[in-house]
Amino acid sequence: MSSAAPAPGRSIPAPVITPETRPFWEAANEGKLLLPRCRSCGKVHYYPRARCPFCGGEADTWIEAKGEGEIYTYSVMRRADPPYAIAYVSLTEGVKMLTNLIGADFDRLAIGQKVRVVFVPSESGQKVPMFTPLLP
Ligand SMILES: [Zn+2]
Repeated sequence: MSSAAPAPGRSIPAPVITPETRPFWEAANEGKLLLPRCRSCGKVHYYPRARCPFCGGEADTWIEAKGEGEIYTYSVMRRADPPYAIAYVSLTEGVKMLTNLIGADFDRLAIGQKVRVVFVPSESGQKVPMFTPLLP
């Protein structure tokens, strides 16, 4: 069986959307990956939250990420049906996202592998950012 495509039959739980995270999810539905940036110290962080984790300032601005990064660490859930892979991806903007890897041959995943964002509909239709390996 090929694992080169998003596994059919795997439903993705709908994310919980809060006022803090609403811009992030609305952008995801438009195919954009937003990252919160602190207005006080200028640092980008993830996940979206009201207070900057670095300085405690209000994190009330957003930047659009390039949507590219590399695998920091990953784990393949082989006993799941169908199997899937979760990972921390280091974005070029310097933050790490806990995410899923799709469209990948799970036997050929590697730490440091280049990936790019893709947006996958969840059970509610809300799109969720996941990552897929770039072709070499
Ligand atoms: Zn800050």
